[in-house]
Amino acid sequence: MATAYVIVGSGVAGIAAAETLRARDPGAGITLVSEDPAGFYSRPGLAYYLSGLIPDRQLFPRSPEALRALNLTWVQTRVDGIEPQAQRLTLAGGRRLPYDRLLLATGARAAPPDFPGGALDGVVTLDTLDDARRLVRRARRGVHAVVVGGGITALELAEGLHARGCHVHYLLRGARYWANVLDAEESQLVEARLRAAGITLHHHTQVREVIGTRGKLSAVETTGGARIPCQILAVAIGTRPRLELARGAELGVERGILADEYLQTSVPTIFAAGDGAQVRDPRTGQASLDTLWPTARAHGEAAALNMAGTPTRYQRTVAMNVTLLAGLPTTLIGALGAGGDDADLVAIARGDSETWRAAAPAWVVVERHEVNRVRLVLGERCLRGALVMGDQTLSRPLQRLIAAEADVTPIRSALLASGADVPSVLHQFCSAWEATNGPDR
Ligand SMILES: Cc1cc2nc3c(=O)[nH]c(=O)nc-3n(C[C@H](O)[C@H](O)[C@H](O)COP(=O)(O)OP(=O)(O)OC[C@H]3O[C@@H](n4cnc5c(N)ncnc54)[C@H](O)[C@@H]3O)c2cc1C
Repeated sequence: MATAYVIVGSGVAGIAAAETLRARDPGAGITLVSEDPAGFYSRPGLAYYLSGLIPDRQLFPRSPEALRALNLTWVQTRVDGIEPQAQRLTLAGGRRLPYDRLLLATGARAAPPDFPGGALDGVVTLDTLDDARRLVRRARRGVHAVVVGGGITALELAEGLHARGCHVHYLLRGARYWANVLDAEESQLVEARLRAAGITLHHHTQVREVIGTRGKLSAVETTGGARIPCQILAVAIGTRPRLELARGAELGVERGILADEYLQTSVPTIFAAGDGAQVRDPRTGQASLDTLWPTARAHGEAAALNMAGTPTRYQRTVAMNVTLLAGLPTTLIGALGAGGDDADLVAIARGDSETWRAAAPAWVVVERHEVNRVRLVLGERCLRGALVMGDQTLSRPLQRLIAAEADVTPIRSALLASGADVPSVLHQFCSAWEATNGPDR
């Protein structure tokens, strides 16, 4: 009998798994269960939709025809439980669904507000397309909005609401924006751009109380004693992997669903992928969380191969994100921070990686020119991480050098010399390195 594959989740991890399974086995029975009525869409794209840069129809990476061609049995409902012994799921309403191999691609959701009053109408988070559509309906010109949180999503919310004509106050609990990934100057660059755009920043400020009238948000009272009237309070204080199914089935769980390098959980017939999976790296023995689109896709592909009986190690690549921070193109690669906490986040942000906070012994080289900035985190032999802001010419070469753990000892002293022309040293080195190691792909 054909193997019955069941995937829970229609995000990029679930869809990548479905596409990989279908490519391997045109006749396989693949059921995809997801509670999201919008199906498969780009979550990073939600920020661009909120800002009005793209219409919602551009959020769908696959056409309806391409999804139909996968020939999946698509069930739009919630999964309420897993019975690992009996190898079946319980769906909302009580229906049972048997499986031979199960993939949990259940993602993560925004951490709920950690202050009283979070349930008032007008207090919002940004997880799904439905959230984004509701927010767009609320965010009319002249509306007052308060944003709290850190990382990429809080910034995107502040900018998106501002682009829709709202008056935006951004409250930061700490001294500066995204303090455990950016350095002080990078935070300042981002904050200066927000201010120049007309967003009001409040440092060392928390929500003391959320004030509502008849269940509706009307103002925020801050720890500094200010009362900010508002109709929207957008909260982005981090994300939490959705663990309810894994916990109910007694799978190994820490911050995420624990999976080995084959994406297999503590139960051999159940696999995990994407934002919900905390995947062990056999090289370091560490199991870390990423909330990155390309990582979720790579997990889904590797999990599917293993489910189909082809043992395939998930090769953890260097965590990377190319994004806009207050309109500044920014690439974040590898180990960047010095560890520590960011007061604005209670959990990992979206578009983030725990590995960026690795505090390896390192020297930091910074090259700056107005808004263009390159920060290199240099280990004994290799580059450990890099942050490129503004001009992105060095982004791709640095990604390659860091991913390949290229030996940069020949240019180490040139990089560390005072007054070094870091971009030309790197460009020359990269060209020579690529001539030996193959061209960029
Ligand atoms: C606003 C925003 C900005 C982002 N920015 C970036 C960025 O700049 N760069 C980057 O790389 N990444 C970014 N990300 C993160 C990226 O989108 C995620 O890493 C990626 O989408 C994770 O995919 P996934 O398949 O693991 O999970 P998800 O896309 O979260 O999918 C999970 C699926 O599981 C379903 N599900 C969960 N539990 C159940 C259940 N019990 N029953 C039925 N269905 C269930 C959900 O409905 C959903 O369909 C951003 C995300 C957001 C929201």
